[in-house]
Amino acid sequence: AAEEGFDLEDVEGAIEAAGHGPLPVLAVVGRPNVGKSTLVNRIIGRREAVVEDKPGVTRDRVTYEAEWAGRRFKVVDTGGWEQDVLGIDASVAAQAEYAIEAADAVVFVVDAKVGATDTDEAVVRLLRKAGKPVVLCANKVDGPSGEADAAYLWSLGLGEPHPVSALHGRGTGDMLDRVLEVLPDAPRETFGGGGVGGPRRIALIGRPNVGKSSLLNKVAGEERVVVNELAGTTRDPVDELIELGGTTWKFVDTAGIRKRVHLQQGADYYASLRTAAAVEKAEVAVVLIDASESISVQDQRIVTMAVEAGRALVVAYNKWDTLDEERRYYLEREIETEFGQVSWAPRVNVSARTGRHMEKLVPAIETALAGWETRVPTGRLNAFLGELVSAHPHPIRGGKQPRILFGTQAGTKPPRFVLFASGFIEAGYRRFIERRLREEFGFEGTPIHISVRVRE
Ligand code: GDP
Ligand code: GDP
Repeated sequence: AAEEGFDLEDVEGAIEAAGHGPLPVLAVVGRPNVGKSTLVNRIIGRREAVVEDKPGVTRDRVTYEAEWAGRRFKVVDTGGWEQDVLGIDASVAAQAEYAIEAADAVVFVVDAKVGATDTDEAVVRLLRKAGKPVVLCANKVDGPSGEADAAYLWSLGLGEPHPVSALHGRGTGDMLDRVLEVLPDAPRETFGGGGVGGPRRIALIGRPNVGKSSLLNKVAGEERVVVNELAGTTRDPVDELIELGGTTWKFVDTAGIRKRVHLQQGADYYASLRTAAAVEKAEVAVVLIDASESISVQDQRIVTMAVEAGRALVVAYNKWDTLDEERRYYLEREIETEFGQVSWAPRVNVSARTGRHMEKLVPAIETALAGWETRVPTGRLNAFLGELVSAHPHPIRGGKQPRILFGTQAGTKPPRFVLFASGFIEAGYRRFIERRLREEFGFEGTPIHISVRVRE
């Protein structure tokens, strides 16, 4: 490293930063309009259009990566919709429940100007039951005069209220310091292999009516074992242990698959939140697509969610029994155009109705998990990079030729690489490297991350 002009400390820092394991998850919950989305914007430090003027607007994106004081974590924003047919209390509770379940710590946002309402009290009861660390955010304290309002919130029994103005940034730093104190370094369930770490965790996801519950019933047969992970609570069981191909797997959030609450306003948003929560809890996502219909934007978003979360991925095309030759022809074209960016994911064509190709599901999942855990030894990686760079050098730009000097795999689950370069490496060349890495080392069924450090 030193010979190539990189400071050793720099190299180690880059490897450590890129190699982080799964990030802990922070959920931001509270009633509508207390300022959750504004706060999330503040935390992720971006002016993304998270705050919408329209009430009850539905969004798909609910999870964001954030960094504070050098620590990285994920933030789940539940500010996506307003009251729906369930009524205000039930819908806030349902939303909070999903988010809390997936979270390692929670920021509970209350409007200090309004004070604690009955709905806030209902969320407090959920928070108590869940037993996760909670930081109480007394929002809309835009100036010193509001601090007295914040102090009233001691009455919620959640400890110190942190007076914050999400809108202006007042107090958010102190509150985030507190969040980091209670947020664990790694997610509560770390990813383990079979034996010691417990069963592998599968999220079976897909838009409504693609056949998730039919598939679950088909593969599980009589063997369903319900696991209620939140002992002592009365809520629905969430995860199920199912034996497939001689191995026990944990299907996460199956309650979300079976429960059919048909909501009007906000239904898509519930589905997104639930999907994001399941993906966070799982190691591998099996995305189910209804092959009898055209691949939709929603299908693509669900796949993207799994990829962005860095999970292993299998794509299963269901209802194969209904396909005629013409539909099969068009499906292949759609897969090429809509799912070209995940052509690395194992694919199975199944029918939950007839049981077609059910036996191919487990091998596909195993392949994806193997890719997800692959580690390339540094020597092999650098031999490969050396050959690649001399056979296909980066195009010359401004009279200079940026070169990849060396690289290392900083982490797995999914595989993360850091490449050290003598100059800026263009996006096209990065994609080329990714493609060649995949050709050389496999990585079937897994996203891979490549970050490039440029010598100062
Ligand atoms: P959510 O429904 O909980 O996600 O709430 P939003 O983030 O959408 O905010 C609801 C409204 O409260 C918006 O009009 C925000 O501009 C406003 N708001 C959010 N935070 C603050 C704050 O700290 N001070 C004041 N005065 N208004 C805020
Ligand atoms: P979910 O909303 O994703 O859980 O979907 P369901 O399992 O409830 O299935 C939705 C509908 O599709 C039901 O009417 C199922 O009977 C039907 N279905 C599910 N899988 C198949 C399949 O493989 N072939 C056919 N023909 N229908 C299916």
